[in-house]
Amino acid sequence: MNGKNRSNIKPGIQVAVVRKQDQGSGRLTRGIVKEILTHSATHPHGIKVRLTDGQVGRVQEIFQNQPAPKQEPEVLMETKKNKLDGKKIDQAVAAARRKMEQLEKTYREKALQLFPWVCARCAREFTNKNVHQLTVHHRDSDHTNNPADGSNWELLCIYCHDNEHSRDLDQGRSDGLAPATEKGPAATYKPFAGLKDLLNKK
Ligand SMILES: [Zn+2]
Ligand SMILES: [Zn+2]
Repeated sequence: MNGKNRSNIKPGIQVAVVRKQDQGSGRLTRGIVKEILTHSATHPHGIKVRLTDGQVGRVQEIFQNQPAPKQEPEVLMETKKNKLDGKKIDQAVAAARRKMEQLEKTYREKALQLFPWVCARCAREFTNKNVHQLTVHHRDSDHTNNPADGSNWELLCIYCHDNEHSRDLDQGRSDGLAPATEKGPAATYKPFAGLKDLLNKK
């Protein structure tokens, strides 16, 4: 890097200059550029600068071509880290969702083995053809509470299941559990909400 091109020199960089009184001996003075005094793009004897200590000379050597980056690396690392964390969170959410879907599939299969295919509210009976309309309701509204004896499960048709949850919302809950616990992404009754009304209108 030579000191003859103005574009190589910026305030804050470390340079060696030759002062006017040293031009005979060629003695170099090292320092940090404070301001550039040469206005043309190049100078055959070096761009004239004032150093931070006030000395003036023509640049002979440039020791670094950028001001020392003090905090930049940390900032960059921080940004990178945040991006990674965001990705991790996405992955965790996706994993939790898969686990939830897997869980629902598992307890639904178990519940269908355990109980007769009859809605516990309206006593409608189900067969292989329409069993997809028979859903598993959790008595305590906790999808993760799945005792193997089925004591927390109830098979409800999608309509009764829907009603069951609107009832929860109407009455409010006194046991301190969030009423919307079951309304996760894996809940199956929700897509059919309002279907009953549509059918009744016919
Ligand atoms: Zn339910
Ligand atoms: Zn029913």
